[in-house]
Amino acid sequence: MNSSRARATQLASLGRPSSGWANTPIVKGSTYLFDNLDQWRNARQKRETERVLSYGARGNETVHALEDAVTAIEHGYRSQLFPTGLAAIATTLLAYLKAGDHVLVSEGVYDPVRRLCETQLSGYDITHSYFKPQDPDWHLQLRPETRLVYVESPASLLYDMFDLPAISTVCRDRNILLCADNTWGAGICYQPLTLGCDISVTAATKYLGGHSDVVMGSVTTNKACFSGIEQASINLGQTVSAEDAFLVLRGIRTLDLRMQRHAGSALDIAKWLTSVRAVHRVFHPALEGDSSHDLWKRDASGSNGLLTIEFDPSLSTQKIENAIDSLQLFGIGSSWGGYESLVLPVDPGRTRLRDSKRVGYLLRLHIGLEDPDDLMHDLATMFDQLV
Ligand SMILES: *Cc1c(COP(=O)(O)O)cnc(C)c1O
Repeated sequence: MNSSRARATQLASLGRPSSGWANTPIVKGSTYLFDNLDQWRNARQKRETERVLSYGARGNETVHALEDAVTAIEHGYRSQLFPTGLAAIATTLLAYLKAGDHVLVSEGVYDPVRRLCETQLSGYDITHSYFKPQDPDWHLQLRPETRLVYVESPASLLYDMFDLPAISTVCRDRNILLCADNTWGAGICYQPLTLGCDISVTAATKYLGGHSDVVMGSVTTNKACFSGIEQASINLGQTVSAEDAFLVLRGIRTLDLRMQRHAGSALDIAKWLTSVRAVHRVFHPALEGDSSHDLWKRDASGSNGLLTIEFDPSLSTQKIENAIDSLQLFGIGSSWGGYESLVLPVDPGRTRLRDSKRVGYLLRLHIGLEDPDDLMHDLATMFDQLV
């Protein structure tokens, strides 16, 4: 989104047809027909370097419209779509890494990425190790065979933010690619490609879709990196359905509005939670006093509905979990970024980044689009059971 228009204005028109239907129609198809062999040959040659219609698995008008919208949101060169966020990450790692390479992965990444490295990549003779980007000596962990640095900022579960411009300077000097998982930023609150990354991956499942009714992933890159992800995507047969692309495009129309509501309610609730007796700490980068707040102010242009609380360490797990089960407005379930509020316990072993003082029970909240006063009332009823 490079024009001078405001974000909300641009989101209203990204990927829309230039005339006719307000929305890009859902195109269904495997076979694409050509008038003659010359045209067919021409298209097959062109598709090596350009995006053309040639076969269903290579995308159609609906999918291309969403690719264009995501590219504009992420300030990239082009995007490729995947059936899940994890497929986007896995294909990215396979696209840029080969046997003998090493990938340096930030602590706090979405847990299945660790599994992918440990059980899949290692079988292809691709090695990995983990680093804490806050450690001033982190660059000493780069090896001669390090080809890619993979970060997630803010990190999953406690939202530690990293200095992407500083990391990218180190990577660029050594000709190492830098890839960021931008799911937290929903494409619009945070811009890894503008902050120096080469590749930005998102789970469109979360805020881009926004309605808990679709799973999808996206990879957006700069110009130099695009052919790598495009080729890997074709070779591994990755594609998305037009219905799902349509749903994500529809989600994008209300993305700015939804994010404002998620972030506004989450910040109000986070501030209130800091005064609740049963709550020991609140993790939310937009909250003043959070250890990532300064970086968030410098590098992000908004926030989202995620926050994590640490209960008072003197409270028993059983008591806390009974209280959580009594919540009426918060569902218990995986994922986030939909319209609805959710809670899920956080395994303290998986947070890895923040200091070791943490001992209380951790609960991740996703603040949905419901009325924030109703949500606070529901949470207050839970806390009342703990006094
Ligand atoms: C959910 C999530 C993913 C994976 O997305 P799926 O569509 O569920 O595969 C990747 N990264 C982060 C940070 C996530 O939260």
